[in-house]
Amino acid sequence: MKTGNKTKIVATIGPASTSKEVLREMILSGMNICRINFSHGNYDTVAETILNLRELNVEMETYVGVLADLQGPKLRIGEVKDNGVELIPGNQVTITTVKAISTSERIYITYPEFPKDVIVGENVLIDDGKIILTVLESDNNTEVKAVVVQGGTLSSRKGVNLPNTKISLPCLTEKDINDLDFAIKNSVEWIGLSFVRSVNDIIDLRTRIRAAGSSARIVAKIEKPEALTEIDAIIHATDAVMVARGDLGVELPLEQVPTIQKMLVRKCIQQSRPIIIATQMMESMLTNQSPTRAEVNDVANAVLDGADAVMLSEETSVGLYPVKTVQHMQRIVRYIEEHERGIYFREHHPEPHDVTFISDSICYNSCVMAKHANVTAISTMTNSGYTAFKLSSHRPKANIFTFTDNPTLLTTLSLLWGVYGFYYDKYQSTDDTIQDIQDLLLKEGLVKKGDFVINIASTPIKDRGRANMIKLSQVG
Ligand code: PEP
Repeated sequence: MKTGNKTKIVATIGPASTSKEVLREMILSGMNICRINFSHGNYDTVAETILNLRELNVEMETYVGVLADLQGPKLRIGEVKDNGVELIPGNQVTITTVKAISTSERIYITYPEFPKDVIVGENVLIDDGKIILTVLESDNNTEVKAVVVQGGTLSSRKGVNLPNTKISLPCLTEKDINDLDFAIKNSVEWIGLSFVRSVNDIIDLRTRIRAAGSSARIVAKIEKPEALTEIDAIIHATDAVMVARGDLGVELPLEQVPTIQKMLVRKCIQQSRPIIIATQMMESMLTNQSPTRAEVNDVANAVLDGADAVMLSEETSVGLYPVKTVQHMQRIVRYIEEHERGIYFREHHPEPHDVTFISDSICYNSCVMAKHANVTAISTMTNSGYTAFKLSSHRPKANIFTFTDNPTLLTTLSLLWGVYGFYYDKYQSTDDTIQDIQDLLLKEGLVKKGDFVINIASTPIKDRGRANMIKLSQVG
């Protein structure tokens, strides 16, 4: 499968989808990136999933990559008595950092600094905001008194969000550092960083990845209000962004999430950073064989906004119909891409003062030329992937075919809008390479005689520098 949708599909892998058979069907249905959520699962199962995927890539000649999603400083309550107690509105509760089984009067939280960090009057949101408590007082040591504002059933290990509290935990917990080590040893292409609050979180992770000798790229998950206050710097520092709407919709008023999604997509396209829209996209398919009308609209609107990828979470990790869910998502994406011109041609001018101005101009002008000449394919030789990121961000209607002798780069680039990769290791002359690429695309049926194509290259080819040349030609 050499091409497919331009908007890519990220699917979370879990008990419903770890087997090779299901993974194969998901790839055939349009999955481009497998997400491993380190909040769940164990290393043995994750290693098996990655191995299955790598074997399938060889068998099926595909380049599906892996996104390892680190849990980050997710706050949780501990075990709850009988795995469920009722919290009644108006009742007072004590939140304690001393480990104990939680009851309807006393709740254990896994965050030792909670009494010091929290401020009287703030809300404590439990279980994605289904339960709301307001802080009455803190002893600044181990206990906080709160009143139940919105009640409900409290069950074990539910997540806790403190939208107005500056959490003093580091972005990478001890568990994250172990998970990162495991992910790097398993050569994952993308690392997801949860609860990013500042650009320093990205810099810290990048330093650790480099120190471990890995070229893995970073996905900054935007789910905290603090991240929005320095969003331009965060987008600049990261390699990709995820709109993590699950926690974002708890940390901020729900009605703000759609405009934040649109703002982030716009900014990421401008800065050539791929962006993933995540969470509850097809949630009803956890148990149903088709999505709701609202879910179809949500996926379609993410494509219309200009997202690089749409993501499936529990639908594919623990849902009853992982393959069918990918199929439905793929059909929605395909339809919108075929019928809505507005998602294409989002060229943005290169900056003359940037050190990358020459290759940026090559990419920009290739996309402008591709639009005017109705070009079918833009091909590029790439060593770092930079040209693919740039070309993709202009959203050309022409397919973007990248050629490289770096297999890890091919599986990495699978996340990018409109980009499809080929392994290519002949670095002879530019003329030979361009002809070779054209022959290959023709043989694969990706261009036909008479089509206009654009080749981007770097001359002299042996220097393997950044793109500095465009060629427009007609096939045949
Ligand atoms: C989210 O909150 O939307 C999200 C993707 O994070 P996670 O699934 O890791 O909680």
